[in-house]
Amino acid sequence: MDFAFTPEQRALKDSARSLAEERIAPIAAQADESGRVHTGLMEILAESRLLRYTVPEGYGGYGIRVINLCIIREELARVSAQADTNFIMQGLGSFPITLGGSHEQKAFYLPPIARGESIAAFALTEPHAGSDVLSMTTDAAPDGDEWALNGRKKFISQAGDADTYTVFAKTDPGQGSRSLSAFIVEQGTPGFDDSQRLELMAPHAIGEPVFDNCRIPQGNLIGERGQGLRLALGTLDTFRTTVAAAAVGMGQAAYESALDFARNRTMFGQQLSNFQATQFKLADMAVSLDAARLLAYRAAWLKDSGQEIVIKEASFAKLFATEAAARIVNEAVQIHGGAGLQKGSRVERLYREVRALTIYEGTSEIQRQTIARQLLS
Ligand SMILES: Cc1cc2nc3c(=O)[nH]c(=O)nc-3n(C[C@H](O)[C@H](O)[C@H](O)COP(=O)(O)OP(=O)(O)OC[C@H]3O[C@@H](n4cnc5c(N)ncnc54)[C@H](O)[C@@H]3O)c2cc1C
Repeated sequence: MDFAFTPEQRALKDSARSLAEERIAPIAAQADESGRVHTGLMEILAESRLLRYTVPEGYGGYGIRVINLCIIREELARVSAQADTNFIMQGLGSFPITLGGSHEQKAFYLPPIARGESIAAFALTEPHAGSDVLSMTTDAAPDGDEWALNGRKKFISQAGDADTYTVFAKTDPGQGSRSLSAFIVEQGTPGFDDSQRLELMAPHAIGEPVFDNCRIPQGNLIGERGQGLRLALGTLDTFRTTVAAAAVGMGQAAYESALDFARNRTMFGQQLSNFQATQFKLADMAVSLDAARLLAYRAAWLKDSGQEIVIKEASFAKLFATEAAARIVNEAVQIHGGAGLQKGSRVERLYREVRALTIYEGTSEIQRQTIARQLLS
């Protein structure tokens, strides 16, 4: 048993932390509240070459290792939710191509994503199909040497700012797990309108793209017809663990803020941190953080070691870490008293930002369902 990072992983963590603290933190509040992909932030991520960890070797990337993605997400999310999203969406948005695309598709689309010159998005969810993916109604029909796409997606991160979308659509209704196919759709394709944005309680670059007889070449099909669900689930299974790492980063930021505040706030003639009630809160936060971190990195390590069955462990990590982070942030706000509610304070922003993590990439209820299925099978 060895619970330590390798020297390379340690070096990656240190460089991601320096980048986050020195270059991202100064613009984090502004970027996080912008609700758009922040150009300055993307430039920093591109220059730092961190985006290359989201793309395989041979196509402009350093290769995809879930532990590396977790290390980077934890450090970015500790200072900026948007930096974390911008980083990971390059991987999530392009992974269906990595997983099932042809050499030509990979060679054309992945290198600009690794360099940050092309922004990626992953379009699965629809207004009436979230957890129940197979009830989607966006369809794609072959027409000559093209596909015609019709329908509407919802809650698509980076929509409106993205250049390369991987889009899931129904090609074979009634075929169950083989009813979906995956496609590449480029921004600006006639019949594709990604201008409609959504406003969330914590601003997030997100939108509701529409396909109205959107025609794309036959060659934009990823993999084979009917493989869409496999590619979508394969992508989510790989990236789910990294959501846990982002939650750890946000929880860590809240914990550090609470610790600092409790040490410096005086009341009744002493520091807030002298009261046992505060100490117990801090202790619970630290224990939850450690447990969340261990679950996240265990699931990442299992995946990178080539273990086939990590679905349960990835769901353990996502479920526990995102719910723990929400509790930690909530307690951190409580420790700050009124100051924790003040717009612009670190914990106020975290309180809004952490909420999405128990919802996207499989809600907590879906994680519990997945775990229970594994236990009972
Ligand atoms: C910030 C953010 C970013 C996102 N980015 C993307 C993206 O880039 N691409 C993309 O495709 N999607 C994205 N999503 C969408 C996200 O994946 C969905 O919101 C999520 O899958 C849940 O779907 P839904 O919102 O339709 O809720 P629903 O599926 O309608 O669920 C509503 C409630 O029912 C619960 N529920 C579902 N099934 C069961 C059950 N069997 N038993 C009990 N309760 C159940 C859910 O847990 C939830 O509490 C994003 C969402 C957010 C908030």
